[in-house]
Amino acid sequence: MTEVSRDSCHRFIFDHSGIRGQIVSLSGSVKTALEHKNYPEPLSSLLGQAMTAAALLADTIKMEGSLILQVQGDGPVNTLVAQATDDGDLRGMIHCAEGVVVPNNFRGLVGDGKLVLTIDASGNERYQGVVAIEGGNLAEAIEYYFDQSEQLPTRVWLSSSGQRAGGILLQKNPGEYEEWFKWDHLVALTHTVSETELVELEPVDLIHRLYHQESITVYRPVMLRFRCGCSRQKIESVLIQLDQSEIEQIAEDSGEVSVECEFCNQKYDFDAVDISALFRATNVVPELRQ
Ligand SMILES: [Zn+2]
Repeated sequence: MTEVSRDSCHRFIFDHSGIRGQIVSLSGSVKTALEHKNYPEPLSSLLGQAMTAAALLADTIKMEGSLILQVQGDGPVNTLVAQATDDGDLRGMIHCAEGVVVPNNFRGLVGDGKLVLTIDASGNERYQGVVAIEGGNLAEAIEYYFDQSEQLPTRVWLSSSGQRAGGILLQKNPGEYEEWFKWDHLVALTHTVSETELVELEPVDLIHRLYHQESITVYRPVMLRFRCGCSRQKIESVLIQLDQSEIEQIAEDSGEVSVECEFCNQKYDFDAVDISALFRATNVVPELRQ
């Protein structure tokens, strides 16, 4: 599922320094992620922030592949996942326990647990970093991750409202000790951004508003869009991990096995013939499969 959108990531660097940043602005991709989902505001807002964060973080990684941000806590939110690829595909989902009052703050929603960042590089390399959830919002939780695991001074600002979201990430090269004064100055400048400005201002206007007195180079933006990587083939590979007789029974009882992608709502149906063909193909001895 794809939607033409103006969602973007602008990368910038403060000239003659080891300090750089990104601004992500999302509307269409958040709107698509929220489609057909009746989330209360605290959940839709947290999902928007998580997708913004994933896009910001993916842009800091200089490799092909994707970045997956997961919050795994003991609060009412039992699933929060956002994924961004190096070429601008974005998806995310959030799930909350049923029948609970949804709190209106980050820690009330996610509780205690882990923040997990996974980098899935194209060459099948996988890197995973895990820290405890700290801080009063998602931006602070991500900053804590960098404090603990990356040794890269990093500050993050995230905001989300309705079907729009925006964020800024600032990062400083390690070891540039003489630049702490400039770093503090830029963090203070960025800190003047309001939640409304983050969500509503065009990125170039926001860069001007915050940094017009700085010598800054802004690169061509990377355009972002909601795109889900699900496919019938991937669903099949999940189904064949399950118990064959159970799956066959469901197909027989209901006429089909129906699997819906939780990111994009795409439905994949398998009737009894599909299911038996699927398992037959996997049960053939390996030498005979080609
Ligand atoms: Zn999907």
